[in-house]
Formats: sequence, structure tokens, C-alpha cells
Amino acid sequence: MTVANKISSLIVAITLVAGLLVSMYTAQREYRAARDNLLRTTAFAVANTPRLQLAVYNRNLATLRSEADEIKALSPAIGYIGIHDIAGKSLLQKDPSGIAQGLSLLKLRRGVSPLDPSLTSLPSEIVLDNRVTLALLLGGEVVIHQTLPVYSLIKPTEGGISVEEFGRELARSSLEGSRHAIGYVHLGISRTALWAQILPSLLLVGAISLAFVIICLVIAHRITRSITRPLERLAQLANDIGSGSVNSNLDLHGSNEISEIASLLNSIMGGLKNYKSKIDVDHHLLSLKVEERTRQLSRRNEELNEAVREVTRTKNRLREMAYFDSLTALPNRRLFTEQLNLLIRLARRHDQTLALMFLDLDNFKRINDSLGHAAGDLLLKQVAHRLSDCVRESDVVAHYVDSETRIDVSRLGGDEFTVVLNQLEQPESAGLVARRLIESLVQPMTIDGHELVITPSIGIAIFPRDADNVEDLLRAADTAMYHAKQGGKNNYLYYGSEMEASGLDRLQLETDLRRAIEREEMRLYYQPQVDTVTGNVIGVEALMRWQHGEMGLVPPFKFIPLAEELGLIGELGSWALEEACNNVIALRKQGLKLPRVSVNVSPVQFNEAFVNRVAEVLQEAGLEPNALQLELTESIAMDDATTTIALMDSLKEIGVRLSIDDFGTGYSSLSYLSRFPLDELKIDRSFVIDLDKSENNAKLAAAIIAMARSLNLELVAEGVESVDQYRFLTHEGAKIIQGYLFSPPVELEDLKPMLDPFHFAQQIQAIPRE
Ligand code: C2E
Ligand code: CA
Ligand code: CA
Repeated sequence: MTVANKISSLIVAITLVAGLLVSMYTAQREYRAARDNLLRTTAFAVANTPRLQLAVYNRNLATLRSEADEIKALSPAIGYIGIHDIAGKSLLQKDPSGIAQGLSLLKLRRGVSPLDPSLTSLPSEIVLDNRVTLALLLGGEVVIHQTLPVYSLIKPTEGGISVEEFGRELARSSLEGSRHAIGYVHLGISRTALWAQILPSLLLVGAISLAFVIICLVIAHRITRSITRPLERLAQLANDIGSGSVNSNLDLHGSNEISEIASLLNSIMGGLKNYKSKIDVDHHLLSLKVEERTRQLSRRNEELNEAVREVTRTKNRLREMAYFDSLTALPNRRLFTEQLNLLIRLARRHDQTLALMFLDLDNFKRINDSLGHAAGDLLLKQVAHRLSDCVRESDVVAHYVDSETRIDVSRLGGDEFTVVLNQLEQPESAGLVARRLIESLVQPMTIDGHELVITPSIGIAIFPRDADNVEDLLRAADTAMYHAKQGGKNNYLYYGSEMEASGLDRLQLETDLRRAIEREEMRLYYQPQVDTVTGNVIGVEALMRWQHGEMGLVPPFKFIPLAEELGLIGELGSWALEEACNNVIALRKQGLKLPRVSVNVSPVQFNEAFVNRVAEVLQEAGLEPNALQLELTESIAMDDATTTIALMDSLKEIGVRLSIDDFGTGYSSLSYLSRFPLDELKIDRSFVIDLDKSENNAKLAAAIIAMARSLNLELVAEGVESVDQYRFLTHEGAKIIQGYLFSPPVELEDLKPMLDPFHFAQQIQAIPRE
């Protein structure tokens, strides 16, 4: 309940009670006044009506009846009238409703002096005029019994007084003061009837009171509203302030206190508003700052992520660079060394055997020089690919501890590769794998449109037999590889301690090589080329040797590549050319017949100066040009075909013979071949070695022989060691054979006997035909 309602209710209650009290008081007063007035009127009427006194005295019933009617007519509230004589005997009774039934006058007047009136109120069962509702409201019908004595100035006991006399006596006022009661008038006045009489005026009072209450109510409501509205607004305002939704100032009119509160609240609100706007600004600034900081952070985060990615990339790259060969993606020397170390430790712990194969490509340098580095790189990639494939298929002979330690193929640099076979059952298994590697590599590969055949030389070292650490194992395999190369390339060799004798120090070698010619350490060895039909030596190949002061006879594979690298090959080659020509002349002077000599020409030395030098040497030596044959490698032709052909043409003009050496190992292109002014073709030793073992090689050799024939070139098969090889090659149509079967390269002195006519005929005839 609001304060206003409470106040209104209180005021209504008060005015209601007040109206009720006023109404009740007024009603009571009205009633009393009406009653008293009636009682007074009746008393006055009874006392001042001589006709009544006389009729009582005379007991004149007719007069009494009319007098009784007159009194009764005074008020409708008079329900009963009885007239009695002094003894109480009833003279007349009028009681139409019966409200005074059974009441005796004497009983009513007991104890009352005969001259006094009496007044007694008694409840009644009967309600006058049937005003039952009103009577019930008033708490039942009550009848006021009024008895009034009827006086007489004449003593009633005096007899014989006539009515006229009695009248006269009454008219004499001098007789006043001596009164006598001669009878009684009994009136029954109904209280209900009295109330009914004043009811209209009471209703009016009630209506006025109600109107008053209503007016009070309205006024109270308005007053309380005017008091509580500011309070309500204050409460609302407080509420709004609490919830923070107040914007405008409070405009309140009211009592002083309320105005004071309002101005107080206004000042609080002003403060709050200032505070709020400050907070709003702060909040805005803060959110701007937070936004900016968030942006910065996310930017930082992104930068950081990028940096992390970059670092990871770099790390991976570094790792790759550190551990993997960029060209072939094979493990590099570092990873190889680390992993081999681990494998050796494991092998030692488990008492196992391990093989390290050192693989070097034959003539790779030539291909690189002639086709360019890009082609060389492509070739190395293919080699790496083939080696990996081949090793993967060779799992039968080697097991891997786990994938982590599986290093199998690595590239140490240049054209050097290594293959590790772990948990080897027996050392011989390594040879099987080596053979497979060779077979896989010699399959022709197409590089830049050229079909190339590449051959490897493989050295095998066994742990723990040959060495028990990475360094020594690697050195042993390297040494074995050198010996394989020396033994004629495209081959594999197991390491043996006897190989150690020819250890070379490269740096020392370099310095020594530079002085080799002036120190006259260079030698030319000659290997005969035998005509299989006659058994005659139809030519010799001059092969250079280096008679080193300490190391003894150094084979060409150890110093020719070095000389090419150091730019010494031109000088060496020139020396060889001169020496060869001079030697032939010297032999002829001794009466020995040597139709021609072949001299090897390095691609590095093949230029115009060389052509001039050839002409010069021939002239100086006095040798007919066609006694000199120059062995060019296939790669010479690829360098720059037009220049090469021009140089070759110049050489042909001089009159020297031209031969293609190591045919089949570089690239072979018939179109080029047919454009070169060639005289001879030398089938490479690598095809000859495996004739009996490799069907492929046999086919190739046969094809090369057939091709030489069709191109009208003389064919020389070199590196022939066995009777089987000899038989196969001659059967296929080869006529000129060079190889250990007849003779290794020898010194000039040792060559002389072989130059006798038909020197080898006997040996040839001894070879059984199939
Ligand atoms: P090449 O021109 O292919 O020489 C043939 C090689 O095969 C020679 O090796 C020879 O000793 C070897 N050989 C011949 N028959 C047999 C045989 O039946 N079995 C075996 N296992 N080997 C045989 P050498 O003398 O060690 O020469 C190696 C290479 O060095 C030559 O290969 C040639 O490319 C180069 N070379 C030698 N002398 C010279 C030279 O004066 N100038 C240039 N530029 N290179 C030279
Ligand atoms: Ca040669
Ligand atoms: Ca050769």
C-alpha cells in the first residue's frame, strides 16, 4: 500500500467515524426532542382540558371517547390510550394494535404518588404499524407507557354536583392550588413510531454526512497526492540513479524539505553525471587502447609465427644442407660419417659384419667437361637414383637395424658415392651387391638427349676385417676403389693390405708432377695391337707412366686427371706426342717395323695449338703423318661439334689418323660419329671385361663391332685378357685386339721383340676354336 493510499484510508476512516458519530448523536438528539416534545404535549393536553376532567368525573363515555381521539390525534406514535378512574378502573381503552395488552395501570404506577405522572418503558412483542424492519434495526419495539393524572379542583367525593356547577367551578381561577386526582390517562407511545417520525430528517443528516465523507476523501486524496508525488518521483529518481539511467535534472515542486532533497539529489546527479561522462571517456579511451594493443599483439603474434616458421624452414634447410646432398638428396659425407660411426658401434656390440663400398664413376670428369656441368649434375642424379633403387632391392644380402640407421647410399662429393651394407652374413655378399650396382649403372641413360653409358669402379672394405673405425674403413674402401680403377675400371675389388704400398699424398704429387718433365720422370709404355689374322703387331698404344723418385711407377689414373686439373696436360701430352714419334723413328732405324703409334689426347688439350703442335712434332721427328694415330675420347666431339670437326679436319689435312677411344662409355650418337673424319673405333674395356658374365655387355660389344664395320671404321678391342673374350670378339668380327692376353703395356725395349713379323701368330693359333 502506497503512502498516499494509507493516508487516504486513514482520513476516510476518520471522517467516516466522525460522520457516523455526528449522525448518531444527531439522531439521538432528534429522537429525544421528539419524544420529550410528545410527552410534554400529551401532559399539557391532559392537564388543560376541562372537558376531559368533567367527562372523567361524570364518567361520560361519549365525551371521553371524543377526548381520547383528540389526544391520540396528537401523534401517530401514540398507539394506545386508556382512561381510568382514580381507583384504576378502566373507563375507556383504545388499542387497535394491541401494544399495551395485559398491562395494568396499577402495576405501572406502583410507588408513584397519585398526583405525579409516571413514565415506564417496556419492550413489546407487537410492533406498531408493522414497522418490523425499523424495529429490528432499533433493537426491538419498546413502548413508553405514560400515565398522567387527571386533576380536579373539586373534591371528587362531594356528591350532588351537576356538570354545570363543575364547569363553573373550573372556570374560577381563584380556586387554583387545591387539586385532586380524579382519574388517569394511560398512553402507550411506540419508540419505533417515534423514530419513523424523525427518519426523513435523519436520512438528510446521513446524506450530508456521506457527502462530507466523500468531500473529505477527495480532498485527502488530492492532498496526499500532492505530498507523495514528489516523494514518488524522488523514489523513482533514486531508482534511476541506481540503475544509471538518469540524464536530465530533476524539476520538483513541493515542500521545502522535498525541494531540499530535490536540489540535493540534483547536485548528486550532477556529480554522478560528471563522473559518468568522465568514466565514459575513460572507458572509451581504454577500449581504444585495448583494441590497439590487441591489434599490436596479433600483429606481433603473426610476426612471431612467421619468424618461427622461418626459423623452422631455415633449420630444416640447414639440416638438409648439413646432412643431405643438395643435388641428389642423398645423405652427405657428414651424415654418412655419423651414421657409419653408429653402425660400426652396433656391429661391434653385436659381433656383426658390415661392408662399406666406395664407388667412383669412371670418366665422369670427361662427361662433365664435354657436356657441361648441368648435364653432369643430371647424370649424378640418375646415378644416385639407380644406386638407391638397386640397394633397396638387395635387401636379401643386407639387413638394416632400423630405418633410422639405414644410410645405404650416400654421396661424399663429386662422383664419389658410398654404400653401406649392414648386418652382412658373409663378406662375399657385398660383391654380389657391387656386381648388381655395376650392372644397373651401365644401362645407358639419356641425358640432354644424349645416350650415355657410365661405369663405376667400386672398392669394398669389410668391418671388422679391414678396419675398425669410420676413417680407416673409408680409406680402405677408397684404396680398393683406386685399385679397381687401375685394374681397368667398371669393376669392383675387395680391399687387401697389399694395396697399401702405393699410397699417395696428393699435395706432394702436385708439386712433384709440376717438375716431372724437367726431371725426366715421364715414361712411355707401349702396348701392342695385334692383327688376329696375321699375328703381326700393326700398331702400339703409347701409355704414359710417371717414374716417381719415391713412389716408383705411378699409373696414369693417378696423375692424368691431376694434370688436367692443374693445366699440365698440354705439356705432358706434347711430351708424349714427341716421345712417341721419336721412338717410332728410333725403332725403324733399328730395322723394326712398326706401322703406327697411337697417342692418347685429353679433351683438355684438344685445341688449335695442339693441331699445330702435331704438325710440328711430325715434321721434327720426320715421321709420315699416317703413322701417327690420335686417340680422342667421345666427349671431345660433344664439346662444340663444329669446332671439333674443324680441328679434326685440320688434323686430317695434316694426314694423321683419328681414333675414338673408350667407345660406349661416354655418349654414342651415330649421327655425330658419321660426321667425324674417323679412322678407328676402340671399344671400351668395360664391355670386354664382362662379356662372359653380362649378356647385355656382350650384345653391346657385338653391336659396336657391327656398327664400326658399317661405318667403315677399323675396330680395336682393348682390355682383352681371356681366351673367351678373344673368341667372342673375333667371332663377332673384331680383327685387332689389344690386351693383357697378348701383352701389357711395356717399355720400349720390351716391345722390340714383339715387332718381329707374325710374333703372335703361334699364340693365336694355339687358341682353340669353339
Ligand atoms: P686408355 O686410353 O683406355 O688405355 C688403355 C688402358 O687399358 C691402359 O691403362 C692399359 O694399361 C689398360 N689395359 C690394356 N689392356 C688391358 C687388359 O687386358 N687388362 C687390363 N686390366 N687393362 C688393360 P693405363 O695405361 O693405366 O692408362 C689408363 C688411362 O690413362 C688410359 O686409358 C688413358 O685414358 C690415360 N692415358 C694414358 N696415357 C695417356 C697419355 O699419354 N695422354 C693422355 N691424355 N691420357 C693417357
Ligand atoms: Ca687409349
Ligand atoms: Ca681406352
